[in-house]
Amino acid sequence: MTVSPAAGRLWLPYAQMQTAPAPLVARWTDGARIGLEDGRVLIDGIASWWTACHGYNHPHIRAAVSAQLERMPHVMLGGLVHEPALRLAERLSALLPGDLGRVFFAESGSVSVEVAIKMAVQYWLNRGQRGRTKLIAFRGGYHGDTLATMAVCDPEEGMHSLFSGVLPQHHIVDLPCDPASEAALDALLAERRGEVAAILAEPLVQGAGGMVFHDEAVLRSLRRLADRHGVLLILDEIFTGFGRTGTMFACEAAGIVPDIVTLSKALTGGTMALSAAVAREAVFEAFLSDDPMRALMHGPTFMGNPLACAAANASLDLFELEDRLAQVAAIGDQLRAELEPCRALPGVRDVRVRGAIGVVQLDRFPALTPLKQALAAEGVWVRPFRDVVYLTPCFTIGESEVSVLTGAIRRVLRSAF
Ligand SMILES: *Cc1c(COP(=O)(O)O)cnc(C)c1O
Repeated sequence: MTVSPAAGRLWLPYAQMQTAPAPLVARWTDGARIGLEDGRVLIDGIASWWTACHGYNHPHIRAAVSAQLERMPHVMLGGLVHEPALRLAERLSALLPGDLGRVFFAESGSVSVEVAIKMAVQYWLNRGQRGRTKLIAFRGGYHGDTLATMAVCDPEEGMHSLFSGVLPQHHIVDLPCDPASEAALDALLAERRGEVAAILAEPLVQGAGGMVFHDEAVLRSLRRLADRHGVLLILDEIFTGFGRTGTMFACEAAGIVPDIVTLSKALTGGTMALSAAVAREAVFEAFLSDDPMRALMHGPTFMGNPLACAAANASLDLFELEDRLAQVAAIGDQLRAELEPCRALPGVRDVRVRGAIGVVQLDRFPALTPLKQALAAEGVWVRPFRDVVYLTPCFTIGESEVSVLTGAIRRVLRSAF
């Protein structure tokens, strides 16, 4: 049995440790660049799983985290609060649409989705409705890797058959992108609403499930169906939140307000682990009672970590000080122009862009290792998965850096097929 010595004693994510090629050793980051131990410098096309929206090592975030580190790196949020968390919750509630304004912090995206699920299920229990334990989620969706979130992912992505017996059963159906699937969802809700707590979806873009887009009308349809049948709507904005799709939050583009929204990824500008499940007032109020059993019994040890909250506050400062959404629009235009020629290449099925997300979809699942290696040899950090080669760069990336990324993708795909 062999394992690449470059991995040391690390067990790496999503990797067959016996056959995975040696991981690259990162030494420094700056802006849209990653410096490697061997002296090479890569232009980063994916911003570390689309988290580093202001580029790496932004001086404003670094200063805020350093100052917080001097004062108080961490204190528990149980029974204690602190200025960075209070301020961040206030700012998130002001930024989010409608009355989304009760902020529960956690430390990873998956956990915030789990918290949102618990909120939805207990919301109905607290209102005296037992048996509402099912979620309706969608094919192609991705909500995390923990057991409860696997169960609401796409059945294949969530490995539902491999883990059968461990995962709870929910309804995983087609997004209502056409009248037939909308009617099917309507019928399912009519039949099962008594056992459904909430509809859960990624708005506008299904990210890690394959970078598939849908339009605003689909979100309006979800809101309408949730209202018609009296179930909650949870939108997972962990990928789409903070400008990625062109508006600060994807739900704004559709003019709808979910009952609970989950945030993470770019929340701290990609510097610290932090997430949040944010509920509307009516959800929060269902937990108010003189009965302690009606409280939300959840509390990750590092929830609302002051360093992470300081980073998130600094990230929000940057959205106020610099016109990130204009940068997103400009990146989108450039990606559209420079990726479009890929459409003519053999082996390419689709090219699509939304906000600062560029996707080239192939007509088959290629051998990923040689593709990744060819991209790295071009001096870019791009991580194709399944049948997609995608770009989600930082919003501060330069025009010439975007051209390096798109040029590398065009060249590699031209020689690959
Ligand atoms: C990344 C992601 C998650 C999971 O977040 P983790 O921090 O990896 O647990 C959940 N939902 C969406 C939409 C994501 O993109």
